[in-house]
Amino acid sequence: MRKLIIPLACVALLALPAVVPNDYLMRLVNVGIIYAILAVSLNFVLGYAGQISLGHAGFFGIGAYTAGILTHTGPGYMFWPVFVLAGGMAGLAGLIIGVPALRLKGHYLAFGTLGFGEIIRIILFNWQEVTHGGDGIAAIPAPSVFGFQFDNDQKYFYLSLAFLLLVLLLARRTETSKYGRSFAALRDAEMAAGTTGVNVTRIKILAFVISSVIAGCAGSLYAHLVGFISPDAFTFEVTAQVLSMVLLGGMGTTFGPVLGAAFITMLPEMLRISKEYYQVIYGAGVAFAVVFLPQGILGFLSRRKAVKVPQLGENGVIEELALDDPAIDLLRPKSGSGAGDDVLLSIKNLTCRFGGLIAINDLSMQVRSGTIHALIGPNGAGKSTFINLVSGVYQRQEGVMEFGGQVLPVSSSWNIAKAGIARTFQNLRSFHSLTVMDNVLVGCRSAKPASWSSVMLGSSAAAREETDLRATAEAALRFVGLWAMRDIPVSALPHELQRMVEIARALAMRPRMILLDEPAAGMNPTEVERLVVQVRKMKAIGLTVLIVEHNMPFVMKIADTITVLNFGKKIADGTPVQIQQNPEVIGAYLGKRAAAKEVKNAVA
Ligand code: ADP
Ligand code: MG
Repeated sequence: MRKLIIPLACVALLALPAVVPNDYLMRLVNVGIIYAILAVSLNFVLGYAGQISLGHAGFFGIGAYTAGILTHTGPGYMFWPVFVLAGGMAGLAGLIIGVPALRLKGHYLAFGTLGFGEIIRIILFNWQEVTHGGDGIAAIPAPSVFGFQFDNDQKYFYLSLAFLLLVLLLARRTETSKYGRSFAALRDAEMAAGTTGVNVTRIKILAFVISSVIAGCAGSLYAHLVGFISPDAFTFEVTAQVLSMVLLGGMGTTFGPVLGAAFITMLPEMLRISKEYYQVIYGAGVAFAVVFLPQGILGFLSRRKAVKVPQLGENGVIEELALDDPAIDLLRPKSGSGAGDDVLLSIKNLTCRFGGLIAINDLSMQVRSGTIHALIGPNGAGKSTFINLVSGVYQRQEGVMEFGGQVLPVSSSWNIAKAGIARTFQNLRSFHSLTVMDNVLVGCRSAKPASWSSVMLGSSAAAREETDLRATAEAALRFVGLWAMRDIPVSALPHELQRMVEIARALAMRPRMILLDEPAAGMNPTEVERLVVQVRKMKAIGLTVLIVEHNMPFVMKIADTITVLNFGKKIADGTPVQIQQNPEVIGAYLGKRAAAKEVKNAVA
């Protein structure tokens, strides 16, 4: 039965022009399709990448005016080259606006893009010589190809429908590819996306450009459908309408925007009988949708059923990736394995201030390659700040950080990730809308990444890349013993398991060094035992591990070297035995003698 749905829907769609009774309704269908294309395009930015954009009518307008200005009173076949150009012009505007605008976040981005939309409308009004101002541009020809004219709404329907289907295909392919995962990572946890190696700036601009190119093409379709354009068709009202289509249908879903567009375009028609109450019903409907369908119609329909989290192995036995398994090679550091005693991370005179507070104070330390290095100290000592500095989340104010003999790039966390540093977070930062597998896949990166176009075209290179990425993700998930959980939404897992997913995500990046910020928090003794084994295994495959941990027995057991911080200053550095005998450490950190004894017992 399900197999029949798609062919039946296709036949129904193709037969639509023959069924729809009048030209007026057919025009409405066409306008609805163009709005659906706009809504899908907005969904790239808003739904997939999670960036608010309120300037969409601007890109729509640029496309429509490019088409109108270049083709009016001209031949119909000019539609085709100008269609491409219209998308290109809007895409260019998206790029020019996007680069500065995407430094903004949340409300500021909303205001920035709102301003852009207004500027475009004002230009359309005032650039008389080119846009004919308020008079608009008339006599835009119907598209033609080899003498065939799309000169009525019945024929035009096939043109707009074909483009909508193409755009939906792109949306679907984006969603299910590495690009979709990167967009979702950006949307769910921008900071973690960066430290997981997603080039946040690039991916934001990509979303913006794809979105504006499609909106520009929709503008061209609109201009040629209606034959006349004026600035009134590209006001903020259009943006608001498209926005409500996306929200109503279901943000971030493939078909939600189309559903929303169909609904909102047809609604006035359905309510025509009660003309005087139309506004009231419409308003009440929108309010209802906002309150009761926060995820939109599709979000509501596909509400997550209670997820059953599989038991981890029988009798608590978890099958983990053994060191002699060939798949372990997929997790070894990409470059420069950790053998030898050379210094991998060298920190000199690092300082970081927050206002008057000095979180890291003139810190110098070295982490040797291939070792497990623990960073300990009381709460607020600056341990997480240190990890944030090394992973590029915070910008250092003073000092030098060298990694593998190279000065660490300051510009961005993803460049640091690329240099071979991966991390986990003390406060969970999972990509909560993705499955466990997709979370880990965000960290996977191939040496020769397939381009957006080759992914969209479904090339064999792109397919091969995806297979490779999945193999790495599988190895990482098996490494932490969570392979059985791969298809579960990560947010359904308890916190300590989400922490393990973060570790797998970091391992999948194949870093030279992994920074673990309190990985054992909230774990029971059995889980801690397992973590000990895993950290040792990381060392065994050539990783350098820097671990922040409160659990002293754990630290003393696995660390080769320990650095102790207090109030942002290093107070000791040495082997576990040296540290536990250091009077300053006992005084400042461990405090009481009893605590020192506890440590001693743990090591013994
Ligand atoms: P630890 O991880 O060792 O417990 P942190 O590195 O989280 O400590 O914090 C060190 C100090 O820096 C604390 O006093 C904390 O309040 C402060 N701090 C950390 N991050 C920020 C920030 N983003 N803004 C202001 N203060 C911060
Ligand atoms: Mg901390």
